Amino acid sequence: IELYGIEKWGNGYFSVNEKGNVVVLPNKNLYQSVDIMDLIEEIEKSRDLEFPVLLRFPQMLEDRIDEITGAFMGAIEEFNYSGTYQPIFPMKVNQRKEVIEYIIKYGAKHKIGMEVGTKAELLAALSLGLPRYAPLICNGYKDEDYLRLALSIHNLNNIIIVVDLFEEIYDILKYADAMGVVPRVGMRVKLFARGSGRWVESGGESAKFGLSTSEALELMRILEERGLTSSLKMLHFHIGSQITDIRTVKNAMNEAARVYAKARKMADIEYLNVGGGLSVDYNGSNTATPSSANYSLQEYANDIVYTVQKICDDEEVPCPTIVSESGRAIAAYHSMLIFKIIGRKNAKSSPLRPPDDEAPMQIDDLCSAFKEINIDNYKEHYHDALQYRDELYDSFNLGNIGLEERAKGETLFWMVCKKAAFLAKEAGDESDEFLELKKLVSQKYIGNFSLFQSVPDMWGVEQIFPTIPLHRLDEMPSERGRIVDITCDSDGEIKRYAGDSEGLEYLEMHPLLENQDYYLGIFLLGAYQDTLGDFHNLLGCAHEVHVMAEDGEWYICQKVEGDTCKKLLDFFNYETKDYIWEIMDRCVTRKESIRKRELEQIEAELNRTLKGYTYFITRPPRQSKKKKK
Ligand code: PLP
Repeated sequence: IELYGIEKWGNGYFSVNEKGNVVVLPNKNLYQSVDIMDLIEEIEKSRDLEFPVLLRFPQMLEDRIDEITGAFMGAIEEFNYSGTYQPIFPMKVNQRKEVIEYIIKYGAKHKIGMEVGTKAELLAALSLGLPRYAPLICNGYKDEDYLRLALSIHNLNNIIIVVDLFEEIYDILKYADAMGVVPRVGMRVKLFARGSGRWVESGGESAKFGLSTSEALELMRILEERGLTSSLKMLHFHIGSQITDIRTVKNAMNEAARVYAKARKMADIEYLNVGGGLSVDYNGSNTATPSSANYSLQEYANDIVYTVQKICDDEEVPCPTIVSESGRAIAAYHSMLIFKIIGRKNAKSSPLRPPDDEAPMQIDDLCSAFKEINIDNYKEHYHDALQYRDELYDSFNLGNIGLEERAKGETLFWMVCKKAAFLAKEAGDESDEFLELKKLVSQKYIGNFSLFQSVPDMWGVEQIFPTIPLHRLDEMPSERGRIVDITCDSDGEIKRYAGDSEGLEYLEMHPLLENQDYYLGIFLLGAYQDTLGDFHNLLGCAHEVHVMAEDGEWYICQKVEGDTCKKLLDFFNYETKDYIWEIMDRCVTRKESIRKRELEQIEAELNRTLKGYTYFITRPPRQSKKKKK
């Protein structure tokens, strides 16, 4: 466990059992665990879904909503806060229907609300029947359709339209007037305090959204002028996602609570919406670094509740209902991707035959370098090998040596490199030159997944997501490798592995075995990854398996099929309805004498591939037919 830091980044949801398999505890209070290898066996046995498979554990969503609400309620009790707390789920974090359904169901006991940022998100939220008491917060840039839709359902839902851009207030009032609705509005304010970490630009004076102090005052004046002061229901701010440093939360809260208190003297504001930003410790380092944070959930809740209480007392105004839009912290843990290693890639080693007597000089030299290199002279021999390799290529380009010799020379060169990298490690050599060499000679393991589809933030913002083997954890790993995906893109590589604040460059792995698949998991994928992912190389959504654990056992509660090739072609306008017919037709025109059997075979292959999974399919080897005696 220690090796992969599971207990540091897992938040108690993951562990390793005596068999060396990863186990999942979807609901920490039930102590009912799921052995991932048993689950994999069941998926393999059912033969309806191939890997990669995305696992969802809906109970983790419930557990996270409970934990976050519990932390705020604990703080409310501790500081005798006179208001209350309600969680809100921001839909942008995961719009998958099944996920939102789980959140609405499990969050009902805490009156969870939703935040939407576009018309489509609003339509999605409405389709799922959010209860009337749950706030439905409309953020983002709003056109006429968005506003009219929000206003039309005002009397059926607890809609709050947040003014993100000052000019929006005129449109809200115009359409509300025309539709005979008394609007409930909120205002997002720009704080001087900024967040910390990767999404720091979401806050501060130059943020994309929010009103300046003078705009906020003007908005309140406009409402007052129209006798709508009581329409102002919410004050909102958001200083960015994944806030890494607790000091920025404290600063922002001091400022926001003061703004609330001053505004509360002018309008009957009910909610203080502290936005999102509660972080997830993806690498388990508990530091103020981009994939981690230096504070706990309880510290976060305490700072918010305490500050609001103190400032409201000071300003003698009633305490608001605090709402937080903690999306990442609710959703991140609940999903993980399981994939298989389908091969190893190391262009730097290939079969080698001993050099013959007439080998060119550079091959002899490389051979000697390989034989003589040791811990005292590895630098010198490595530098020599670099020179011999350059000379080898010069010789080839001049036509003095052939392909055979070139291949031998290349192989010998990489053998010297491997030995040099090993000796440098033994000698504790951390110089850039040898760190780079270590990277170059490391094994690449090909994982059957798409980084761009399943872990887009790993590529886009270099975020670390814990990636580890799911079994054989009772065996000491003896290899170091890096994982590449199956896209034809050199960026499709996991470059950092959880382990320290910066992330490790390699994953400790086990040697691949002939008759056993090697399964790896990428964890904490539930926030942002599901819909940010793209279809690079036309690799689509992975199959999903949803798992519950209760009454002493676990079971698969839902399977969602991933994309077929057909679905992706349809998505990109290839009109697969006539696809097979058109291709067959082309075959006939191209080759008039084509045999019926050949045509049938083409049709069968087209059909099978179109209906099949977009990922690499590993079929069990065909049983050879026994000859009749
Ligand atoms: N609320 C708003 C307005 C946001 O823009 C975001 C995302 O950046 C969130 C909430 C969710 O933030 P997080 O997922 O960090 O909790």
